[in-house]
Amino acid sequence: MDDKSYNPFAMAQAQFDKAAEVLNLDAATRQLLRQPMREYQFSIPVRMDDGTAKIFRGFRVQHNDARGPGKGGIRFHPQETIDTVRALSMWMTWKCAVVDIPLGGSKGGVICDPHNLSSREEEQICRGWIRQMAKFIGAQVDVPAPDVMTSAQHMLWMLDEYEVIYGQKSPGLITGKPVGMGGSLGRTEATGYGVIFTVREAFKELGVEIKQTTASVQGFGNVAQFAIRLYQQIGGKVICVSCWDQNDQKSYGFKKESGIDPDELLKFTDRFGGINKDKAREAGYEILPGSAWLEQPVDLLIPAALENQITVSNVEHIATSVKLIAEGANGPTTPDADQKIAARGIFLIPDFLANAGGVTCSYFEQVQSNMNYYWEKDEVLGKLDVKMTSAFQAVSELARKRKLFMRDAAYYIAISRVAQACKDRGWT
Ligand code: NAD
Repeated sequence: MDDKSYNPFAMAQAQFDKAAEVLNLDAATRQLLRQPMREYQFSIPVRMDDGTAKIFRGFRVQHNDARGPGKGGIRFHPQETIDTVRALSMWMTWKCAVVDIPLGGSKGGVICDPHNLSSREEEQICRGWIRQMAKFIGAQVDVPAPDVMTSAQHMLWMLDEYEVIYGQKSPGLITGKPVGMGGSLGRTEATGYGVIFTVREAFKELGVEIKQTTASVQGFGNVAQFAIRLYQQIGGKVICVSCWDQNDQKSYGFKKESGIDPDELLKFTDRFGGINKDKAREAGYEILPGSAWLEQPVDLLIPAALENQITVSNVEHIATSVKLIAEGANGPTTPDADQKIAARGIFLIPDFLANAGGVTCSYFEQVQSNMNYYWEKDEVLGKLDVKMTSAFQAVSELARKRKLFMRDAAYYIAISRVAQACKDRGWT
């Protein structure tokens, strides 16, 4: 198959169909869950800094809200498509269900490239997105959050626009807000830390001492940076990271055999997680092609950049030393590559379990915002550890008992919970 033509929504549906078959779901439940319940596609007119008007295309897809209000990020990306947003909204449904939080699945996006936008132009896109969607989102309806190339600042602009429209404070509308403006301590760390809580449990199960392990990571953005930090704090060593180079329009790997230093790299990393390769070379990093992260002789691989990265054309390049893959990104592995990983007996922590720390902490943020009472950081991260660890253990126990690949076990648990909620509500 041509990797570039991979449709993430077709992939999400194929994964669902496979699980639905094994779960023996009835026809109506299958029909309901393999499609989003609602979709919005709209135009956002923006007056650019040079005085011209430009129209951006925005999306919100609400896959399923049987277990609670929709929850999911808003991505800014030049290659955003409705099918990517559909797939991600479906994965959000499973993600909230697998960690057992009372929320459904949504996702949003805008086709734009923040690299080429001023801060004022980005603000106008955020406000325009809310003007289009204000009637169809809300604390009890659908709660957005930051995602690829959106940040706490974007969330605050969006919240502000919403509060102007409705004339009242509504901090529960949106999560990922700045701390002090309704945000939760620990949210920035949550996804990356959550990945490592599950990595810690997986290595325990594999009987591998973390202190003896090395890792290679794709991406150096929010998820990757905090995953690297916690993994190194508990004794692991990251020898390679990769990221996107905006000038060269391709990705590079940055390798240091003695272990990369995230603080050092951050000194020459832009706000999009792009590392300056000249400065990295000066600091003693070996500069490799973008695909090199996958080929390192490490114990652990963490894809934490984008979807569709481990494919049939590169899965064979994974070194024989790799024991564990923790999917920090959403949908980084294509289904045919997945089969090869399973056949090789590599333990895989699937995306919607591994990276559920973000949405779990977003849920904590929403709870705090609705109470208007905020917890200490240790309390947030402690609660996150408990949630992630118990979700991991439930999935791995089912995988062991039924001799399932971890992704399949996670799907069975998540889809069963959502299907049950639809049935209990009388929808199916
Ligand atoms: P980010 O924008 O902060 O960072 C993305 C990183 O990936 C950057 O370092 C960028 O240079 C790199 N990158 C982009 N294209 C690349 C390529 N072709 N090759 C190598 N590197 C590339 O994004 P993030 O918030 O860290 O999210 C990363 C992934 O994790 C996405 O799939 C996102 O959907 C998922 N995710 C994020 C969160 C969250 O809380 N941030 C939660 C769950 C899932």
